Amino acid sequence: MFMCKDVVENIMEYIDNELDLQTLKELEKHTGDCPECMGFVNTYKRMLEITGKLKDKAFVTPEIRNRLRILLESKIKPV
Ligand SMILES: [Zn+2]
Repeated sequence: MFMCKDVVENIMEYIDNELDLQTLKELEKHTGDCPECMGFVNTYKRMLEITGKLKDKAFVTPEIRNRLRILLESKIKPV
């Protein structure tokens, strides 16, 4: 079962299209049912689009990734 924390764990690979098909399906199924995660993915994508650096992986430093994770985890109760 795909959980909110799994979306957070896989968001980078999802954006980069690096997920295997099974994980991709699970993630999209979850975001389809979970407004929180759908919002998270959309916000994440928009942020990258605004900066115009969607393809520049160096932009998403571990620090930014960490900050986003903390942001999302603060919204979602641990399961
Ligand atoms: Zn979720």
